[in-house]
Amino acid sequence: MSRVTSESIENVRAAADIVEVVQGYTELRRQGSRFVGLCPFHDERTPSFSVDPAEKLYYCFGCQVGGDVFTFLQEKEGVEFREAVEQLADRYGIELGLETADPREAERRRERDRLYQLIAKTGAFYGRYLWDSQETGKASA
Ligand code: ZN
Repeated sequence: MSRVTSESIENVRAAADIVEVVQGYTELRRQGSRFVGLCPFHDERTPSFSVDPAEKLYYCFGCQVGGDVFTFLQEKEGVEFREAVEQLADRYGIELGLETADPREAERRRERDRLYQLIAKTGAFYGRYLWDSQETGKASA
């Protein structure tokens, strides 16, 4: 199978509305620059699931799952990364470019790099959330 070009993947990520995708599974409401709702990955009564539409990331403070629109679909639909990309490309009308040469090792390496970046970004997102919460606490005290 030919692999999807990195540009295509970025195009899909840019076009995909993570809030809209998540809202197919749980109701979100706006809270400042984020959207919050009941976590679609674990059972809860108070919302601890947060989506950042600018960063295009989600994070649950209850069960600590986090990621981007691709991992969200992978987790919820039980599909591979490639399948998640194709579903979203379809949904948001993005044409996927394919690379002709297809070294499988390169694909694995790229997916690994992507996950490392994602973990770093999610960590930053979490850190900023805690910082924001502290600031909010101070302001209202
Ligand atoms: Zn959760």
